[in-house]
Amino acid sequence: MINTYTSYDLVEFGKPLEARERPMPVPRGTEVLVRVRRSGVCHSDLHIQEGFFDLGEEGKLDMGERGMKLPQALGHEILGEIIAAGPEAPDAPIGQTMLVHPWIGCMQDDCLVCMSGRENDCTRMRAIGVVRDGGYGEYVIVDHPKFLVDIEGLDLDIVTPYACSGVTVYCALKKVGVEEMNPGEWIAVMGAGGLGLNAIAIAKAMGFKKVVSCDVDPNKMQTAISMGADAILDTSREDALDELRKITGNQLLGVVDTVGIPVTARLSVHGLIKMGRYVVVGLHGGDFKMPLPWLPQKSLTVRGSYVGSCNDLRELIALVRTGKVKEIPVGSRPLSAASDTLDDLKAGKINGRVVLTTD
Ligand SMILES: [Zn+2]
Ligand SMILES: [Zn+2]
Repeated sequence: MINTYTSYDLVEFGKPLEARERPMPVPRGTEVLVRVRRSGVCHSDLHIQEGFFDLGEEGKLDMGERGMKLPQALGHEILGEIIAAGPEAPDAPIGQTMLVHPWIGCMQDDCLVCMSGRENDCTRMRAIGVVRDGGYGEYVIVDHPKFLVDIEGLDLDIVTPYACSGVTVYCALKKVGVEEMNPGEWIAVMGAGGLGLNAIAIAKAMGFKKVVSCDVDPNKMQTAISMGADAILDTSREDALDELRKITGNQLLGVVDTVGIPVTARLSVHGLIKMGRYVVVGLHGGDFKMPLPWLPQKSLTVRGSYVGSCNDLRELIALVRTGKVKEIPVGSRPLSAASDTLDDLKAGKINGRVVLTTD
């Protein structure tokens, strides 16, 4: 019996992760113990490592003040083998390798959103790898087998990022609404990182006909084309807005913004036509400004979207099983490279996604 395991923990905000030995957790109640096999490195881990989110004129959202206790293992894109279960989880799929839905709420009987399967909208959210230990350790506890998603037969590296980057953009794209689009109308995806590339691949699989990828990095946009983007736009161009209108024939009906900075927001609300929908999932920060009369005059919808429910993740995996979702580039590194990978992500050196592995 193994008594300890290694975890790459955030010990101090703004500092590199540190390897620490921890006692092996024992699952209680409905909990299951997962041996982590894959762990995706997501951009939001960088914000958590830094310890704050930039709220523009409102200041900063400070993770420490919000009650985050260190040391903690980050990592919320987790895939692993179920190795043990608490006494109230007799049907846990012991021995199976499954994808973990990390966006878990309070699970209390009096919580309307948790009880209706919308744990990701819970105000007392207890997301794995965000407010408690996650996949940058060799083992992780999951509250209940219902948060495990069957991925049998799928590529482990490819499927791991769907738990965050995939389900996040899938839900944002649902809010844009493919069924309300005409074939000649376009959507734009701001950012061509892990989220942006998945947004393009998933949008195409969902039936969006025309997608323009917007970024500042030519290499990433080249990858966007191989994911199915119909056009690319360098947002650092002085005439980026004119160019966006030209590319889309002034038929831009939806934007999924995986960056979420004033530049991408401005480009989006200026570029959208009447009935346009601007959905923000990126957390880079700053303030959002637009002329208020545009909301009624252009019938604009401006909204955010935060990750997704476990059901959304199951829907996405079903879509992946159709074979229609192109695979984004996924690099594999050992779990011990978690901290260096965060550094590379911060430096913009990662094309697609890096998934840490223990195999
Ligand atoms: Zn994430
Ligand atoms: Zn709740």
